[in-house]
Amino acid sequence: MTAALPKLTLKPGREKSLRRRHPWVFSGAIERLDGNPGSGASLEIVTAAGEFVARGAYSPASQIRARVWSFEAREAIDAPFFRRRLERAIESRRRLGLLDPRSACRLVFSESDGLPGLVVDRYAEYLVCQFLSAGAEAWRTTLVELLTELCRPQGIYERSEGGARHKEGLASRRGVLAGREPPPEVQIVAGELRLGVDIANGQKTGAYLDQQRNRQRVAAHAAGAEVLDAFSYTGGFSIACLRAGAAAATLIDSSADALALAQRETEANAVRERCRFVTASVFDELRALRDSGASFDLVVLDPPKFVHSADQVNSGSRGYKDINMLGLALVRPGGVLATFSCSGHVDAALFQKIVAGAAVDSGRTAQILERLTQPPDHPVATEFPEADYLKGLILRVH
Ligand code: SAH
Repeated sequence: MTAALPKLTLKPGREKSLRRRHPWVFSGAIERLDGNPGSGASLEIVTAAGEFVARGAYSPASQIRARVWSFEAREAIDAPFFRRRLERAIESRRRLGLLDPRSACRLVFSESDGLPGLVVDRYAEYLVCQFLSAGAEAWRTTLVELLTELCRPQGIYERSEGGARHKEGLASRRGVLAGREPPPEVQIVAGELRLGVDIANGQKTGAYLDQQRNRQRVAAHAAGAEVLDAFSYTGGFSIACLRAGAAAATLIDSSADALALAQRETEANAVRERCRFVTASVFDELRALRDSGASFDLVVLDPPKFVHSADQVNSGSRGYKDINMLGLALVRPGGVLATFSCSGHVDAALFQKIVAGAAVDSGRTAQILERLTQPPDHPVATEFPEADYLKGLILRVH
């Protein structure tokens, strides 16, 4: 059926992880490449003995030299293939009740949805795509056509940026892919919160959809609380907490743009008068607050990724420990710390250990009340544990 595809032959025995359906082929596993594939081209991946293993996309610049599209010998990689994968991903969100056109959710989560390198976030009636692998890049036109047909959005915008793109040897791209240009702030509804999302200039695809549900879980501890929202971005945690009855919130972020949007968002949610906005490094500001004797009933720590590769686990762990020690020092006795890590290389067990160490070293006792993770629109394919990246703890601090 696709006999003409270039062929990637694995070294003897190197098909093992692929037989378990892990979708990556590292450069060191490759014996030979025949047929001169271009960047993103489809290839047939075969064992040293020539048996079919998978079809995938070629990434000449990356250590992950190929990413699997399909393990089915009979499945061609063509527009109908991408339609099936997109339909499956969207149907899953529909069954989760996530397709209310005023809301936001992640529609496609890369490897976990069988589409390595493709991320699609929906903000109300706009879609934002990231093509983060050579394979996804090669199919961009088809993918945009299919998304247009399947979702009928007002517009589709591209935010293909960041380190992943760089590792694939691809330049950053940003702009309209189809339909209308999104307004400067797309309004979305999350439960009873109203949030504005700057699709063109915000971080990632505009917002942190992975924390939508966790904001509600944290807000359950907010009644009457003075809240410290460290790494607030546009204030998602603060707004959820204030709407749930928190007395006041201090938002700290190093991005002035993020806090400018946070001011508008807190206004739109009628909680702005209870907020204080601090544009600063969280590390500096928490030290200053500690030294001034400040304290809070609820401290939220939601830092950016500290660990980007396995060799950064030690230094990153120290970063998490530092920030958690600073956070713990600011919690009033009997108060709550909600602390997160979005570093996939720091797993839930290690993160718990780091937080436990921070508690010991800061002379506080803490109890885990709840463990948090990523929401169901960021699923983890069982054969791809790398997708499991977000973890959080809600702790009572004595
Ligand atoms: N809590 C947010 C998401 C936080 S993402 C939400 O629920 O939407 C991490 C944030 O940390 C980003 O907004 C980034 O601007 C900010 N940031 C990164 N390094 C920082 C630092 N050293 N000090 C303060 N903010 C920082």
